[in-house]
Amino acid sequence: MKNRKRLLIIISSFVAMLCALFLFVHKWSPATCTEAQKCVICGKEKGEPLGHDWEDANCTDAKCCRRCGEIGGEPLGHDWKAATCTQAEACKRCGMINGESLGHTTSFGFCERCGELIGREILEGINQDITDLITTMRNSAINAFDPQTFMTSSLQKLASFYHDVDVYYAHAITLCGDISELSVLKSKMINVRNMIPNDEKEVTEIVDFIAYMNSFTVFFNASTEVQAEWQPIREKYGLPPNVVFN
Ligand SMILES: [Zn+2]
Ligand SMILES: [Zn+2]
Ligand SMILES: [Zn+2]
Ligand SMILES: [Zn+2]
Repeated sequence: MKNRKRLLIIISSFVAMLCALFLFVHKWSPATCTEAQKCVICGKEKGEPLGHDWEDANCTDAKCCRRCGEIGGEPLGHDWKAATCTQAEACKRCGMINGESLGHTTSFGFCERCGELIGREILEGINQDITDLITTMRNSAINAFDPQTFMTSSLQKLASFYHDVDVYYAHAITLCGDISELSVLKSKMINVRNMIPNDEKEVTEIVDFIAYMNSFTVFFNASTEVQAEWQPIREKYGLPPNVVFN
């Protein structure tokens, strides 16, 4: 009887211990973005929710939690930079391109929108040809006045000069292309080239020499007309002056 009572005490204290243990032991579920750790047995909470781990919004996607996928707010939308002559409309943030560049307002001359000189390389090329031509003209100026060699020397220099004129103007004429603003200049250069004698002159008589030099004068005047046509164009587009005779 005494033993039985003792056993009962042992069993009941064991059960009481189990119950006590059960009261203090929890089974925690992991915390999430929005919920703290929670005991699945008793519902008790521990700690804090983790909070969302936001990936920043961009042009096309709203901010989004890396952990749970929750979406927050709205996409930012593109931040457009207006199109220019040479660049299409583009997003300052993501670089996305929309449409095409506007293109310059002209195919030759100053663009009304951006002010760029379109065809600068053409104008600079012509200016260089004319500068080279004037330099050649100056260097091959007929100044040999030795009576023995005067005619021969003069004619040789002239032939060499004509050759250079032909090369420079042929190049400049190509540069003019179909640009209407340069069409008069082009026709005047063609005119000068047409005046270049294409036969080897055999001049022995002074009268022939004088006739030949007279034809050079006509040629020279036509060449001067080219330069007169060129100067206002050169100034309008701010190109450096050609060398001048001195
Ligand atoms: Zn619990
Ligand atoms: Zn989250
Ligand atoms: Zn964008
Ligand atoms: Zn432009």
